[in-house]
This record gives sequence, structure tokens and C-alpha cells, in this order.
Amino acid sequence: MFAYRHAFHAGMHADVLKHLVLTQILSHLAEKDKGYTYLDTHAGAGHYNLSGPVAYKTAEFQQGIARLWARRDAPLPVANYLALVRRHNGPGPLAHYPGSPQIARMMRRPQDRLRLYELHPTDHRLLFEGFGREPNTQVACSDGFAAVKADWPPPTRRGVLLIDPSYEIKSDYVKVHHALRDALARFAPGVVVIWYPQLLLRDAIQLPQRLRALADNAAPKGWLHAQLTVQASDDRGFGLVGSGVFVVNPPFVLHESMRIALPYLVKALAQVDDARFVLEQRTA
Ligand code: SAM
Repeated sequence: MFAYRHAFHAGMHADVLKHLVLTQILSHLAEKDKGYTYLDTHAGAGHYNLSGPVAYKTAEFQQGIARLWARRDAPLPVANYLALVRRHNGPGPLAHYPGSPQIARMMRRPQDRLRLYELHPTDHRLLFEGFGREPNTQVACSDGFAAVKADWPPPTRRGVLLIDPSYEIKSDYVKVHHALRDALARFAPGVVVIWYPQLLLRDAIQLPQRLRALADNAAPKGWLHAQLTVQASDDRGFGLVGSGVFVVNPPFVLHESMRIALPYLVKALAQVDDARFVLEQRTA
């Protein structure tokens, strides 16, 4: 159960897509003074050392954030995300990558709350050491799927719920579906962001369709789906080729940001000739 460590994958193209979407949503939420809650059901360690032995073992970030790091031609949504990663690094070469909790911490205001769930004992310890003493922040070592029932809707009635499991366990696909169903039943207008891997597996292919069916029926502000395909499959046609993000009740500006960002990311991150993106939405 605890085989997955996000440190091996931090900064890869899937993180770029997910964290770009997250930065867009959090900056939109910060346009109003009222505080919001950021609920991260699968938080990971919080931030990652890219020059350490773990990240270097796979060096997946080389095909992700490292390809964007030195570029100065990024369109505004990507440039804003890159500015955040650069701020997290400070001066010098790319050596660190912010996970979703760190991105939320960098973008929060004093009135915003963070609730972070992580089950892996080592990553939970790292997360707790990094974030456990922050004001208005709670770090839990318990099941993030259960947090949807415990913590949603947020007391602030404004918030974003990020559901980002590793999908190493097949049951994650069903749990994600149930989590969105529960989130919509408990607080229909809340913003929910779901990341999923693009794999030649029935569960992975069906997940965005199943999420769409749920959101079509229950999300008052519609949904947005972005998918970025940049990597070759393995010799047997399997393996991760890209990933997708399904956003329920997206801020209205997100579609325009992704319309600008996705073609740029396809060019910058393509490892195959048929690299491509999907961008679709249903507005309210
Ligand atoms: N959200 C992080 C980010 O963007 O930086 C990455 C999260 S990683 C893809 C998934 C994490 O979920 C792993 O660290 C894993 O240990 C953790 N995990 C797996 N099952 C969980 C569960 N039921 N509840 C909470 N965390 C879980």
C-alpha cells in the first residue's frame, strides 16, 4: 500500500499540469477578501529536493519543470506558475520543487485555512515537520478520502478540494468517483480538482467520463477538463502517456488560461510527435 512516494515523480509533466491549474484557481479565490479553505486529500511530503538521490533516481522532473525552468517566453498563466516555482527555489539553479501544500502555503493569505491529509508515515512526518506548526493549518495522518465527509463543506463556505491520489491501488478510481459524488452532495458549489493518470486501462479511460456524468447532474457552475499527452507508452502500449485534471465548478477565467497555456505546454514538454491536449468544458 505504501509503495508510492511522490518524491520520485515531483516536477514531472503531470505535476506541471496539476499545479498550473491549482495556481490559477487559488489566485482567483484570493480576489475576494473572504478566507477560503484549501483541502488536500493526498498531500504528499509538501515539497521536494530535486538534487537529492530520490528525485535523481528517476529524474522525471527533467522532462517536466526542468524543460520550462529557463524559458522566458511562457504565456501569463504558465509564467505565474513558473514565478512561484522560482520563488520557492530562490537564486541559483533548479533544485527544489513545491508540492501542492507548498503552493497553497505560498499563495494563502492570513485568513485562509489549509487542511492536509497524507497517509504514508514518512511523507506525513515530512509534511508535519514542514507545515504542522503553521497558523490556520491542520496536518492529518489519516485517509484523505474520508476527509471529504469530515471537512467538506469547509466552515468558510469557500474553498478548493484537491483529490490527487497515486492510483497505484485500483480502488482509487472508484473512491475518487465516490468522493466527488459526496463532495457535490455535501456542498454543490465548491471547487473540486481531480487529477488522474492517462493510462491504457479501462478505469483510467472511464474516470473522466464518469466524473463528467456526476458533474453534469450536480455542479451548478459546470466543469472543465484538461488533458496533456506528452510521453510515449512502453513497448506493450502501456505506461503513463500524460495526465488530466477535471475541475468541478471552475472559476470562469480558467478556460481562457488553459486555452493559452496548453498549446505552449504541448510544445515545451512533448517527448513524442503526437503530443497533444484536450480542453473541454460545460458552463453553467
Ligand atoms: N498532491 C501532491 C502534490 O501535488 O504535490 C502529490 C500527492 S501524491 C500523487 C499521492 C499521495 O497520496 C502519496 O503521498 C500517498 O502516500 C498518499 N496517499 C495514498 N493513499 C492515501 C489516502 N487514502 N489518504 C491520504 N493520503 C494517501
